[in-house]
Amino acid sequence: MKPEARPGDLKLVDSTRALGTYRINEVFYSLQGEGMRAGTANIFIRFSDCNLRCKKEREGFDCDTEFVSGELWDVQRLLSYCESLSPSCRSVIFTGGEPALQLDEELIRRFKLAGYFLAVETNGTKELPAGLDWICVSPKTAEHCLRQKTAHEVKYVRAAGMGIPKPQVQADYYLLSPAFEGDFVPKENLDCCIQLVKENPKWRLSVQQHKIWCVR
Ligand code: SF4
Repeated sequence: MKPEARPGDLKLVDSTRALGTYRINEVFYSLQGEGMRAGTANIFIRFSDCNLRCKKEREGFDCDTEFVSGELWDVQRLLSYCESLSPSCRSVIFTGGEPALQLDEELIRRFKLAGYFLAVETNGTKELPAGLDWICVSPKTAEHCLRQKTAHEVKYVRAAGMGIPKPQVQADYYLLSPAFEGDFVPKENLDCCIQLVKENPKWRLSVQQHKIWCVR
């Protein structure tokens, strides 16, 4: 069954993408700013396109990620570029947009052969291929629309007035992330998450620290 369509959702047919190529928005080297792996150096591979359109009225925040633009890369170009960004970093985070729309076993196999630890950040609406080392599911839709049912960490964005999630995803770590407005986190959103964590100690606070550190 497909995830429930919502007004504004993208159609996902990309007829211009040849087998073995991936539409990539950008690739850059930085620190992971949130979640259980915060503070670690990673090469971020941002895939183009997303099947959702997060809105403040519905999800508590407006999507601030540009994922429409991009160009086609093959695996060898991606590997070579990652090597050029950092010959010593062997940790990649696949993100987006929604990486599960394009991520496949061949891409994972080639990066594993090159010795990379592979993490992914997904909205969970599409099941991921096998072989990833760290899965972060950040649901932005109704629980019954989720297809990725297991994760290392599950992370929900919360704004003031929102309640504790009831996740369907089985995870090792459960995280609450206060909704930002641009590079600013409203105090009421942070206070809401702190209060929810205090009332539900299975959960942890995760703040988008890269915005505070002024790194990407
Ligand atoms: S799932 Fe992520 S990338 Fe997609 S619209 Fe929502 S915030 Fe933006």
